[in-house]
Amino acid sequence: MQLVLLGPPGAGKGTQADALVKKLFIPHISTGEIFRAAISMGTAMGKEAKSYLDEGKLVPDEITVGIIKDRLSQADCRAGFLLDGFPRTLQQAKALDVLLKELELQLTKTLNIEAPPDLLIVRLTGRRMCSKCGAIYHLLYNAPQNEGFCDVCGGSLYQRSDDSEETVRRRLDVYKEQTEPLIEYYFAQGLLARVNGALPMNEVLLALGQALGQKWN
Ligand code: AMP
Repeated sequence: MQLVLLGPPGAGKGTQADALVKKLFIPHISTGEIFRAAISMGTAMGKEAKSYLDEGKLVPDEITVGIIKDRLSQADCRAGFLLDGFPRTLQQAKALDVLLKELELQLTKTLNIEAPPDLLIVRLTGRRMCSKCGAIYHLLYNAPQNEGFCDVCGGSLYQRSDDSEETVRRRLDVYKEQTEPLIEYYFAQGLLARVNGALPMNEVLLALGQALGQKWN
């Protein structure tokens, strides 16, 4: 399956993507994760991307599309993939179409996880990540047993620099302006499935499975 996961920041794309790829045995490709890894390794690309992430703005398409092109050309993507956080602009969606054509692949489905803005702000500002294993927590909904430390590996938890309230509001504006039009773009192609991201995590996963014709319990 060639899948795109759409939805505003905080809709739960990362969490659902992790669960989906375990069920579907396909690679999870998150442009946000690729940027964060490049920033923490201090690569040239990371240095270029950093200011955009810090300000909640989109990294320019020349960089982002290039990354996706390299990644989708790798052998493990022949059996399918799940794109999380890409495309985020109409231009990126069109670049993806061209790329898939070159690779003789077609999108199977675009899964849109929806949630109201108030909920997104609470979710994002309360989110904490493990610095060692990447596990995701929430101060209200999924607090770790020992405050500040990961239940899985004991690593220390941190707040993503772009999860501050000011940056979150900017990211939501950017989403509305630049990414929301993709819903119509994929709907018009008959590829869109909508899922209510305000539901509990396991119910969202079930709904995503249903949209893909999978029966999970
Ligand atoms: P995410 O982890 O998906 O919330 O992405 C975090 C940040 O990475 C975004 O706010 C952007 O600065 C950058 N980013 C991720 N994906 C893209 C993309 N497809 N196009 C441009 N910037 C992106």
